[in-house]
Amino acid sequence: MTLTPHASTSAGASEIAPDVWCLGPRGRTQTNVYFVGTGSSWCLVDAGWANDGPSITQAAEAVFGAGAPPAAILLTHFHPDHAGSARTLARIWDCPVYLHPDELPLAQGDFATIAKSAGPLDHWVVLPLMRAMGRRRRELLLAASSLRDVSRPLGPETGMMGLPGWECIPTPGHTPGHVAFFRSSDRVLITGDALVTLKLNSLTGLVLQRHGLSGPPRYTTWSWSAARVSITTLARLRPNVLACGHGTHLAGPTTADAVRAFAGRSGFPTPAR
Ligand SMILES: [Zn+2]
Ligand SMILES: [Zn+2]
Repeated sequence: MTLTPHASTSAGASEIAPDVWCLGPRGRTQTNVYFVGTGSSWCLVDAGWANDGPSITQAAEAVFGAGAPPAAILLTHFHPDHAGSARTLARIWDCPVYLHPDELPLAQGDFATIAKSAGPLDHWVVLPLMRAMGRRRRELLLAASSLRDVSRPLGPETGMMGLPGWECIPTPGHTPGHVAFFRSSDRVLITGDALVTLKLNSLTGLVLQRHGLSGPPRYTTWSWSAARVSITTLARLRPNVLACGHGTHLAGPTTADAVRAFAGRSGFPTPAR
C-alpha cells in the first residue's frame, strides 16, 4: 500500500519538511507532535498531553486519510507533555510505542527509576507527594499511566520500527533515555526537549511566549551537564530543519549556524563545521 498524504494544513497539521507534518505549537507550553510519512506508512513522534488524543487522531486522518494507523509511536522521552496520549493512541491504533531502553523503566512505572532520574520539580513536589500517598495508591497511579503493555525498546536504527531513513540520536540529560530523530538525507532533526525554540527557562520567556533557542526546561531536567553535551551532539548534525518539542520550528540555511552558536554559548567548545 502507498499512502498519499494530503499536503494541507487541515485539522491544524502543517508540512514543515517533505513527509514531516507538525501539529503545533499548541497551548501555553507550545507543544508539538510530528507525523512522519515513509511512503507506505507513517509514525507519530511524540504524543502530546493526555487530552490531545482526539486532535492528534483528527490531524492524522486529515494528513493520511481515515483507516491508516501508524506503524508505531516513537517518543523522544516519557514526560506528560510528550507521552500523555501515547497509551490511548496505541490502543486506538493497535500499534507499539518505542522508547530508548533507558527510558523504558520510567514508561513502565518503576518508582525506583523515577526517583533516580528525577528533575528538581520531582524532588521538590512530585516525589514527596508520591511517597506520602503510600505504596498501594502510588502503584495504582503509576499503573494508570504505564505503557507496560505497549512499549518496546528503541534501537539506533529506526527502519525496523517503521521509519526508514531516520536515525535515533541518544540525547540524554533532560531524561536518562531522551532521544532525537534525524533524517540525514535532508538534515531534518526532531529534538523533543533536548533543544527547543521557546524560552522555557525564564519565567518571562514562558509567560510572554518568547522565542529563541533554549536548552531543556531545567526544573524537569535530570542532568544539566549531560543535557549540555547533548546540545553539542545536536549541533554537530548541522540541521537544515529544527523541529523541536516546544516552539516554532526553524528552517533554512541559517539554522545550522544558529544551533552551532547556541551550543557554543551553552559552555562547550563550539562544534567544528
Ligand atoms: Zn520533557
Ligand atoms: Zn516538553
